[in-house]
Amino acid sequence: MEQLLQQIEQLKQEMNAATGSDSDAAEQFRIKYLGTKGIIKGLMGEMKNIPNDQKKNFGQVMNDLKQLAEEKWESLKGAAADAGASAGVDFDWTLPGAPVNVGGRHPISIVRNQIVSIFKRLGFAVAEGPEIEDDWHNFTALNMPENHTARDMQDTFYILQNPDWVLRTHTSSVQARVMEKQKPPIRIICPGRVYRNETISARAHCFFHQVEGLYIDEHVSFADLKQTLYFFVQEMFGKDVKIRFRPSYFPFTEPSAEMDISCTVCGGKGCSLCKHTGWVEILGCGMVHPKMLDNFGIDSSKYTGFAFGMGMERICQLKYRVNDLRLYSQNDVRFLDQFTGGV
Ligand SMILES: [Zn+2]
Repeated sequence: MEQLLQQIEQLKQEMNAATGSDSDAAEQFRIKYLGTKGIIKGLMGEMKNIPNDQKKNFGQVMNDLKQLAEEKWESLKGAAADAGASAGVDFDWTLPGAPVNVGGRHPISIVRNQIVSIFKRLGFAVAEGPEIEDDWHNFTALNMPENHTARDMQDTFYILQNPDWVLRTHTSSVQARVMEKQKPPIRIICPGRVYRNETISARAHCFFHQVEGLYIDEHVSFADLKQTLYFFVQEMFGKDVKIRFRPSYFPFTEPSAEMDISCTVCGGKGCSLCKHTGWVEILGCGMVHPKMLDNFGIDSSKYTGFAFGMGMERICQLKYRVNDLRLYSQNDVRFLDQFTGGV
């Protein structure tokens, strides 16, 4: 017992002499004296060898020792924190905040917003619909019944067959849904993502974005169509841009046309973008087929309408000179960073 008490006295001196001003020193002190395999725990184990009449006394001595160790440990931790704070490693309240990385809009979103804002000024409302579409809205209602050759124009992702459910191949399905519910006048644009089963390359992708427009009312003529699109093109690409129409075929319009604009790079003189023709194609359009109107219970002897559709990626390509469709979905920050600030 005497020997033990001497040892404890020595330990107390050792502890009192312990110094250090970093968190390592405090931790080492804790492990050495207070840890589960530390000195104090070891001494506690001696209790069983102490004669019964001295156990109480020894317990008191050990408690004092443990209390001293804990106090010393606290003071070492305090010293470490003070040293850290004065050296600036803990936290410097005067440092400027970490910069918040503000993202930019995707180029497709920028173009979409521009298109929507131009047509909104002409009184067009935005309509949206599901991307998983049934056969009726995607094909049949749009003058493309089963086995119609027009269906061959689109390679389709079928989700289900009999009844057929597909990933919509165009946003015309949204027009179908609006005509189903709303009576003329109808004046909408339908921006959205569409899907085609195509091999991914610089010029084709399995999904892309369209904006379609539909205007149905009494006395809507091809002249209205031309003027609407001319206004759009001038707002989008500038006042100097010219337009021209070429006859074409779509199952849901008659007559149908494709519209070109004068090349935005060479101004019509001829360059690689316009394949030296001076013109670039940007959209398809036409007068809504009377059969379409009848399909939706709209009196085709009273109402007429026009429709048009364009690819947002195409508009984006002409506006920003993006020549690879894959860039839009690769999430490459080097590409996306170039559009920061666009709205
Ligand atoms: Zn050109």
